[in-house]
Parts: sequence; C-alpha cells; structure tokens
Amino acid sequence: MRFEVSTKGRGDFLDLTEQVAAAVRQTGVQNGTAMVFVSASTAAVTTMEYESGLINDLRAVFERLAPSGGDYEHHQKWGDRNGAAHVLSALIGPSVSVPVEDGALRLGTWQQIVLIDLDERSRLREIEVVVCRAE
Ligand code: ZN
Repeated sequence: MRFEVSTKGRGDFLDLTEQVAAAVRQTGVQNGTAMVFVSASTAAVTTMEYESGLINDLRAVFERLAPSGGDYEHHQKWGDRNGAAHVLSALIGPSVSVPVEDGALRLGTWQQIVLIDLDERSRLREIEVVVCRAE
C-alpha cells in the first residue's frame, strides 16, 4: 500500500512507525517482512530512536559529511542546488525491511521507522509499504 506525507525539507525527520504498523495490520499478514520505501532521490528511510537530541546529532553529522553550501558536480547537471541531499540519500538508502511477527512490527523498544527528507524545500513524499508473508 502507499501513503503520502508532506515534509518541510532539509533535515526534516518524520516518524512513520504508526502508518507502517497500520499498513501491516490491513494486510492481515501475521508473519513475514514489511519493506518501507520512499520513491525519491533526495530523501531516505532508516530506523533510529526518534528523539530531538539524536535528530540534531544526525543533522550535524549530515552537515559535516555533505555540507549544504558545498560545491557539487550535480549542480552543473541540472542547475539545482541539492547535491548534498542526493549524496546523503544515496548513503542512507531509500528503504528498510522489518520483520513482522504476530501481525506486529518486530522493532526494538527505542527503534522507529523514520523518513528523512534531505531536500532544500518542502515536498510531498510517497511512501510504499510492501508486506510479504513468510512461507
Ligand atoms: Zn538534484
């Protein structure tokens, strides 16, 4: 199934755990795998403890790894300014897979499924959840 979320752009973190858990419940799958994917090259999906301190820590790491004001060859290709977002999106990746057990996501207590929008502006992001039943 798919759903959309609106984001505020660079370094915006959204906790998707409840929406993904609801999608899993809708399928009725008791045991299997849930794959969560964002179809975008300037956003990423990961798992983390969703809390403001860690969000700020990650934003600081992003800035060191791929400075937002940096010079990227990508800017010459399209004339846009979001090279840092593309680099970080590629490094973090667009998806995570989570085991489903007894109809629930088998996440750790302090582990949420999180969308990170790295682009420079607010966007509407499409999230796809694919749930596979175990044999
Ligand atoms: Zn771009």
